[in-house]
Amino acid sequence: MIVLIDSHAHLDMPHFDADRDAVIARAREAGVAAMLTLGVDAASSQRAVTLAQQYEGVFAAVGIHPHEAKHATPEDYKALMGLARECEANRIIAWGEIGLDYHYDHSPRDVQQREFRRQIRMARELDLPVCIHSRDAHDDVLTILDEEHASDVGVVMHCFSGDEQVARRCLDLGFYISFAGPVTFTNARQLPTVARLVPDDRLLIETDAPYLSPHPWRGREHRNEPARVAIIAARLAELRGVGVEVVGQLATQNFKALFKVQSVR
Ligand SMILES: [Zn+2]
Ligand SMILES: [Zn+2]
Repeated sequence: MIVLIDSHAHLDMPHFDADRDAVIARAREAGVAAMLTLGVDAASSQRAVTLAQQYEGVFAAVGIHPHEAKHATPEDYKALMGLARECEANRIIAWGEIGLDYHYDHSPRDVQQREFRRQIRMARELDLPVCIHSRDAHDDVLTILDEEHASDVGVVMHCFSGDEQVARRCLDLGFYISFAGPVTFTNARQLPTVARLVPDDRLLIETDAPYLSPHPWRGREHRNEPARVAIIAARLAELRGVGVEVVGQLATQNFKALFKVQSVR
């Protein structure tokens, strides 16, 4: 059977409250051996940890999303540090999601940048890899990651949305590149090119569930779920001219290497 991983999802979201068990069971049936569920604020980070403790194959990341940067308080960071200090017991394998979003600008840019830097430093202190959200902000994201030496702990660019040039800069800095639903869209533009150039040892796949349903489920009315990472893997396999099981294997190996998990079963 094919083995897959979902390197980025939000399993704590209310979208899954009615049938979370079934969603996770469907993912396992589809071969998804490990799922990383990420926090976007202190409360969702706590929920991510609870889910990771509850479900086999689910791991947690804690962090504050750039959208929420303006709401972050010292108490929030204290809570996150408290959780992350016991990362093994809490099944925390990464810090995120963090980054910059200049598309929505839900928080002022200087605040986003300040909170982004702060969290990279915390991740470094804890030796946790960082999961990066970058939307219309690639230059600043890469500059900050470089200046803060984020590659010391490991970096994944989640739902990669840059062009070939941005991808090459990320690869030069030692980052992983994770593909989500947009690589399946019929108007994916530069993503197919990027999907072909990422080396085997830097490739990751994700759903960002409940968001970003892949083609043909694209659209707000369609809730995404981790089982659909199989569609991302199939599209990447097609673009790279290999079998889907090869993409699954690579993504699984890379997940283990980046997040330092021995076994994903
Ligand atoms: Zn994101
Ligand atoms: Zn996300």
